[in-house]
Amino acid sequence: MKYVDEFRDGDIAQQLIGKISAEMVVGREYRLMEFCGGHTHAIYRYGIPDLLPDAIRLIHGPGCPVCVLPMSRIDMAIELAVAHRVILCSYGDMLRVPGSTTSLLKSKAEGADIRMVYSVMDALTIAEENPDQQVVFFAIGFETTTPPTAIAIQQANKAKLRNFSVFCNHVLTPAAIIGILDLPEVRTEDSLKIDGIIGPAHVSAVIGSDPYNFVAQQYKIPVVISGFEPLDVLQSILMLVRQLNEHRVEVENEFTRAVTADGNLKAQALVQETLELRQEFEWRGLGFMPDSGLQIREAYCEFDTEKRFNLSNRRAKENKACECPAIIRGVKAPEECKLFGTLCTPDNPIGACMVSSEGACAAHYSYGRARVLPPTNECSS
Ligand code: SF4
Repeated sequence: MKYVDEFRDGDIAQQLIGKISAEMVVGREYRLMEFCGGHTHAIYRYGIPDLLPDAIRLIHGPGCPVCVLPMSRIDMAIELAVAHRVILCSYGDMLRVPGSTTSLLKSKAEGADIRMVYSVMDALTIAEENPDQQVVFFAIGFETTTPPTAIAIQQANKAKLRNFSVFCNHVLTPAAIIGILDLPEVRTEDSLKIDGIIGPAHVSAVIGSDPYNFVAQQYKIPVVISGFEPLDVLQSILMLVRQLNEHRVEVENEFTRAVTADGNLKAQALVQETLELRQEFEWRGLGFMPDSGLQIREAYCEFDTEKRFNLSNRRAKENKACECPAIIRGVKAPEECKLFGTLCTPDNPIGACMVSSEGACAAHYSYGRARVLPPTNECSS
């Protein structure tokens, strides 16, 4: 397939690995965080850690949108479907993420009208077909998925679709980068535990490469925006190794076939017109972070589910045995969780990171790169 096969060529991959190995400084470690769940998936799928020299350590970041949504927001979605009896439309992965006491999938089995959709436009169609029922779209995701949500809200407004609203849980990548780099576990007084960042692909196609400049300027960490194919990832690692060896700190763009410095200005304008910054938003593993999420602007407030149903934020206790928060922060790996591959598997996920294919635990498990141990019965909430 054009633009895919040529980025999966094994001979070129070997050449890139040879270059990376040859250019590495003997005795130094290169700790590189991939922020995006798409990269985490590609890294496991193509066995990239097995191909790289040991001194290159890949650290998974908080870029899986399903993983970073806190349990409290899943509980709110369940409340909408069960107590408010709306038709709740959600992406398939979200149905399986455990809430405090149940999941959307279990609530659906018990009779709630919860429907899996492939896009927000499916939810709009459901609203048009069911004028007597309230239809809520459970919107999640980073900057990649915000433009379609904005378009749907504007279309619903034009069509005067009064039974449609959006439960907005969109989050922002730059805020997540700040959240990670400011963690006491990552940033000590005189050093950072991350040497370089493999920057998101699709998110950057929307926001551009310029919004990462602060990482180089303030945190003195190089960033290379990378495509999702294995050769993209290897080329980006080589570019980061070169920057680090040459003591350069820049934002470079490996994914030039889709990402520009400014990004997609039309999509940005649509989002800007429809959504605005929340003062703060809760992230699994990172807590409440300022300016890290979006909400629906006052001009479109009738399509804001939280206002329509007077929902208020609540606290939810995460399962103590699940290491998702530490994995999202990049300070633990999936195999360090005692439940990994035993009580927690993709068929029976106990934490969010085992649900989506972009979640570190699911990707690690699915591509058979983990030693699976017998069950230990140590799950507690
Ligand atoms: S293996 Fe399961 S329980 Fe453990 S961190 Fe991953 S998702 Fe959470």
